[in-house]
Amino acid sequence: MVNQYDVLIAGSGVAGLYAALNFEPEVRVLVLSKRELTLNNSFLAQGGVAAVVDKTNDDYRLHIADTLIAGGYKNDLRSLEILVNEGPEDVLRLIKEMGVEFDRDEMMNISMTLEGGHSRRRILHHKDSTGREITQKLLSAAQRKPNIKFMEYTHLASLTPAGGGFWAGLLVNGEHRYVSCSYCILCTGGIGRVYPYTTNSAIATGDGITLAHELGARIKNLHLVQFHPTAFAAAQGRERFLISEAVRGEGAYLLNCNGERFMHNYDERGELAPRDVVSRSIIKEAALTASEDFYLDITHRGEAFIKSRFPMIYARCLEEGVDITRDRIPIFPCQHYLMGGIDVNVYGDTTIDRLYAAGECSHTGVHGLNRLASNSLLEALVFARRCTYDIARRMRHEESGVQTAVPNPPSGRRALEPGHRTTIRRIMQRAWFVIPDYNAVDEGLAEATEILKELRNGDYILTPDYLEAKSLATVCTLLLSEVVKKKANEP
Ligand SMILES: Cc1cc2nc3c(=O)[nH]c(=O)nc-3n(C[C@H](O)[C@H](O)[C@H](O)COP(=O)(O)OP(=O)(O)OC[C@H]3O[C@@H](n4cnc5c(N)ncnc54)[C@H](O)[C@@H]3O)c2cc1C
Repeated sequence: MVNQYDVLIAGSGVAGLYAALNFEPEVRVLVLSKRELTLNNSFLAQGGVAAVVDKTNDDYRLHIADTLIAGGYKNDLRSLEILVNEGPEDVLRLIKEMGVEFDRDEMMNISMTLEGGHSRRRILHHKDSTGREITQKLLSAAQRKPNIKFMEYTHLASLTPAGGGFWAGLLVNGEHRYVSCSYCILCTGGIGRVYPYTTNSAIATGDGITLAHELGARIKNLHLVQFHPTAFAAAQGRERFLISEAVRGEGAYLLNCNGERFMHNYDERGELAPRDVVSRSIIKEAALTASEDFYLDITHRGEAFIKSRFPMIYARCLEEGVDITRDRIPIFPCQHYLMGGIDVNVYGDTTIDRLYAAGECSHTGVHGLNRLASNSLLEALVFARRCTYDIARRMRHEESGVQTAVPNPPSGRRALEPGHRTTIRRIMQRAWFVIPDYNAVDEGLAEATEILKELRNGDYILTPDYLEAKSLATVCTLLLSEVVKKKANEP
């Protein structure tokens, strides 16, 4: 039996698009996006992509050392060396083959910026909207390839192993259907929506992690959640606009409610300390000052510089009534990134046959305990490409084709009632925010486990809303279970 697609890729962010583009023209690829093609975290990335492309002022060893320091030396060294050594070539391909434009100086050299935790200027960026530039160029390139088919507003609802491939259950505009594929790459992004406030886009509900877990794949280090210290503290809305690390990199001061700089009281690197350090310092300073009012101040860099270096942040803050050339920017930490995920080897291969994962939903181990700024776009590029190497190699040697009949269609009858997501978010914020509350973990886990049981066995109609609620409950349960196990194993 011949499969309809050689490779199904769930996700149209940087990982999914770059994977699709790395297949040879005879490989039939289907790319799914559960909402519009450009609604994803990749599109939101501001600061840039870190890579040692100029060896006159930088060195691979320094990039590795900086990443190890940020990651508390808990990084997977083999994956990290691959990331840093191979990454520059992928970044240069973005420029040469996809037409990605990074900012350049008057001499037309790529102009690198600095971000917290980096010892050298090695961040390639496109103003302050690097993710948009990369994603748009990758998308246009992929849309020109006849072997790549896109399905927008199409939710990957299930994966059923079927011998030489999978039956993939898709929810397309409310209708369910199955397609067959020989290999699947999950590039479904992060889990931000499991928290009440996040910088992540609405798609970040941990679907790939849930699908992989349901197949029995190993999921690792979900408790390693990164909180960004400087999200715009808007009065309303779940999605918090990010004030990029690069703003501190360009000299912005972090101020408490009294207008005082305080970072040097917590870390000698001051404002340029890595994210986890800055986030924790803010929470401690909040307790000290009894106030959650915090600010970034970049006004001293002058209007011309600010407007040309941070046009998007400038315009976005102005919409919120803050002119960053004159005013301080109100900020507070919120969920930003997941270091853990579907455990993969250096080719993005999971513990399930023919199932791969890349990008934020995967766990390559490169980040260790804490991701260094601008390393995640690089990780998405490098390991998405490596998935395609392994799949191409296997395709040359392996027979493929689903060997079982099409599964039965889903048969749920009950409509989902609202409320599950809110409860899960409350549990996560209480138990596992910047400084965890271990007392709230056990209680939260018990509550989340009940919700998940109800969602799994409740005979619910398959809708995107239901699938996302189930994903959030799965992620919360897996994450808190990890914490409980870790606690039990501590001496
Ligand atoms: C505000 C912000 C700023 C950032 N800035 C930077 C930066 O400057 N540098 C850096 O390196 N990193 C940055 N990051 C992190 C980085 O952007 C992400 O880690 C990375 O882009 C993730 O790419 P991805 O392809 O794995 O996932 P995404 O780009 O999030 O794409 C996920 C895709 O999966 C699809 N999907 C999800 N579930 C399903 C499903 N069930 N069925 C079908 N499709 C599904 C979605 O529709 C989407 O297309 C930033 C993140 C945010 C939120």
